[in-house]
Amino acid sequence: MFEQLGLIGCGLIGGSFALALKRARLVKRVVGYSKSPSTTERARQLGVIDVAAPSALLAVSGADLVLVAVPVSASEATFRAIRHGLAPHALVMDVGSTKGDVIAAAERALQHKFSHFVPAHPIAGKEVSGVEHAEATLFHQRKVILTPVKATRRSYHQQAAQLWAQVGAQVVTMPHDAHDAAFAAVSHVPHLLAFAFVNAMAAQPEGQRFLELAGPGFRDFTRIAGGDPAVWRDILLANGEQVLRQSQLFRNTLLQMEAMIAQGDGAALDRAISAARQTRLQWPAPGNTPLGAED
Ligand code: NAP
Repeated sequence: MFEQLGLIGCGLIGGSFALALKRARLVKRVVGYSKSPSTTERARQLGVIDVAAPSALLAVSGADLVLVAVPVSASEATFRAIRHGLAPHALVMDVGSTKGDVIAAAERALQHKFSHFVPAHPIAGKEVSGVEHAEATLFHQRKVILTPVKATRRSYHQQAAQLWAQVGAQVVTMPHDAHDAAFAAVSHVPHLLAFAFVNAMAAQPEGQRFLELAGPGFRDFTRIAGGDPAVWRDILLANGEQVLRQSQLFRNTLLQMEAMIAQGDGAALDRAISAARQTRLQWPAPGNTPLGAED
């Protein structure tokens, strides 16, 4: 059991982690800090944190576990803000949806405490943000990807893996570049397409009327366009190289399918749709749980 969680970023993911730890009786006390005092206070009122700290530094003072759960662009400033307050034995984790940039930020900012840092990405979430939506069961049967680096002390990696498993997650460990390539394909570009598609549709003179007529297919396809702007802006920029690579692959395929339509090539279109259908029907692969709403 941990004595104290120092939580920086009392939002959906950070708040859910705090609630999950409390529910599993894995922590005695949660001290939280968020950018806006009103968010920190709301987290306290909701029982997500026990103590509202006036700074990130004070939130981590005395903590044996620290979770940084802020938008990824705020990671480096947060690591710098906490590094002098970290206890000698504290385990430090993040939850950012991109890993290469956060690891580089942690290495620059945490210096000799970098070996305490275990990068983590829970594949769980919602398209709504904020502490009001935090849930103790958010990580149940969801994957959590850990991307330790050479400098990561093995005991901290093991402690992190055990902790996420204790809150119900399936822990997967992989290199951070493999993580960023995979999540550009299965998460970041799908979000980019959802945002672009909704904008393209709504910008048409008839856009509003089209929206009124839209049904469940549109609802399913565009659900993830409801994601938090600051969080998704950061993710798309932070993983830009991989996102653009996947986006280009998508564009090539889209152009091919558009050509099939323009040429009236029903056989080719049929093959393309059948291939997509087959892939989609075979997912999730055996042993995988359906992921539902996640980033
Ligand atoms: P969220 O609900 O908006 O929470 C973010 C929290 O960070 C807010 O409480 C915000 O405080 C705080 N914050 C922002 N800048 C800060 C700073 N400089 N210092 C301290 N606190 C700061 O967002 P979220 O969905 O929990 O996302 C948090 C992280 O989780 C992101 O890195 C995201 O990539 C990752 N993630 C998200 C999902 C998902 O589906 N949402 C899934 C997996 C991972 P204020 O309210 O005061 O602005």
